[in-house]
Amino acid sequence: MFAIGCHLSISKGFYAMGQEALSLRGSTFQFFTRNPRGGKAKDIDAADAEKLKDLMNEHQFPVILAHAPYTLNLCSKKSDLRTYGEKMMADDLQRMELFPGNLYNFHPGSHTGQGVETGIAQITEALNRLLWPEMQTTVLLETMAGKGSEVGSRFEELRDIIAGVKLQEKLGICLDTCHVFDGGYDLIGNLDGVLQEFDDIIGLSRLKAIHLNDSKNPCGSHKDRHEKLGEGYIGREALQKVVTHPRLKDLPFFLETPNDNEGYRQEIAMVRSWWGKEYD
Ligand code: FE
Ligand code: FE
Ligand code: ZN
Repeated sequence: MFAIGCHLSISKGFYAMGQEALSLRGSTFQFFTRNPRGGKAKDIDAADAEKLKDLMNEHQFPVILAHAPYTLNLCSKKSDLRTYGEKMMADDLQRMELFPGNLYNFHPGSHTGQGVETGIAQITEALNRLLWPEMQTTVLLETMAGKGSEVGSRFEELRDIIAGVKLQEKLGICLDTCHVFDGGYDLIGNLDGVLQEFDDIIGLSRLKAIHLNDSKNPCGSHKDRHEKLGEGYIGREALQKVVTHPRLKDLPFFLETPNDNEGYRQEIAMVRSWWGKEYD
């Protein structure tokens, strides 16, 4: 199952995103659950949700990916910000139950000076309050670039967060190619080695999605500036190896590149051509 899509705006609703994804020849999409800078989410229209689910069935979307707001920080030094983030995520996860079996991705957080170990402990504790046995969403920790005090730029940190969570079966990882490259993992010269390292430390069975982005900066730069596919430091050849790699090719891929819809349409077509799946 090859699945490719891009980030879309939720402003016109869920069914509209499904149609927009199809119009770009995508077979999945990502969306922010609310304004990416946070704030209140609109109530989900149940009929709109049903229409999207029908469309997903009809067009064989394997899964869709919700993205938490960027401001959500489960390991801020400020306890009121931690509480605020946890409330947003609790609300998001409740709403996701309207779309059983899909994915919810979040940035583990920035420890804002408390140190990475405290950050990891706070994220783990929050997840232990947020997850519940009957929930039907898989919650993904995103691999980060290591900008500022971000937690989760090393596979070991993600492993340690997961290790303390009781309902580990609810957790997975979303690997962002720009972030891991900026974090110092050499996707150009050592893709097999990076994937083996991921497998040894976290386990590749946890990997549920890829954010497919080029990077405006060199490996190890810890910057997190996304670039269009083939126009950055990772480059077309390495990105093509990522999407066709036998250990990755069946995952859903999500573009978060600086594009308008026409740019996304072209990138989706390019990724399909790498798979040799231009037409189906
Ligand atoms: Fe992200
Ligand atoms: Fe990302
Ligand atoms: Zn990013």
